[in-house]
Amino acid sequence: MNPLIAKTIVIAGAVVMIAIRAPHGRRSRSVKVARSHKTPRETLLLVLAWAGFFVPLIWVVSPAFSFAEYPLRSGPLVAGVICLAIGLWLFFRSHADLGTNWSVTLELRQEHRLVTRGVYRAIRHPMYSALILYAVGQALVIPNWVAGFSNVIALAVLVALRLGAEEKMMAEQFGDEYAAYSARTKRIIPGVW
Ligand code: SAH
Repeated sequence: MNPLIAKTIVIAGAVVMIAIRAPHGRRSRSVKVARSHKTPRETLLLVLAWAGFFVPLIWVVSPAFSFAEYPLRSGPLVAGVICLAIGLWLFFRSHADLGTNWSVTLELRQEHRLVTRGVYRAIRHPMYSALILYAVGQALVIPNWVAGFSNVIALAVLVALRLGAEEKMMAEQFGDEYAAYSARTKRIIPGVW
C-alpha cells in the first residue's frame, strides 16, 4: 500500500490532538499554579515526550528515516486507525473531565479538585491510557521502525517514571480522598492495572 495513506493519517491525528489540547491548555494556564513538583527529571521526560510526538512528523516530511522503512499492510493500518480513533476520543474526554486541573507536568493549581467522575471513574490515568493507545496506533500505521515506535518508547518511559511521583503528589494533597479513590480504581487499564 502507498505510504502516503499512513502519512495522511499521522498528520490528521496530530492535528486533531493539537486541536483537542489547545483550548484546554489555554484555559488551564489561566488558573495559577499553587504548588509545582516540576523536577529536572520531569523536564527531561517532557523533552522526551515532545521528541516522541515529533519524530513521526519528521518521517512524514523528510526521508531521514528511510533506512528503517518496511511495506505498509492493510491489517495493521486498520487496527492502527481504530487505536488512534479510540485514543483521540479518550484524550478528548479526559481533558473535558479534568478541566482546569490539567497541567502538562506535575503541578497543583489553585482550588485544585480531585476528579473521580467521567473517564476518571474506572482508571486514575485515562489521559496516559489515551496517549498510549494513540502511540500504539501510530506504531501500527507507520511502516517505519524508528518513526513508528518513537512515541511508544517515549510514553512507556514517561509513564514508568512519572506515575509514582504523580500519585505521591496527589496522595499528599488529597489524603484519604485519594487513598479511597486509589482503592476502587486501576491505573491505566480498567479492571487490570
Ligand atoms: N494522570 C492523569 C492526568 C494527566 S495531566 C491522566 O492520565 O489522566 C497531569 C496533572 O493532572 C497532574 O499534575 C495533576 O495535577 C493532575 N491530576 C492527575 N490526576 C488527577 C485527578 N484525578 N484529579 C485532578 N487532577 C488530577
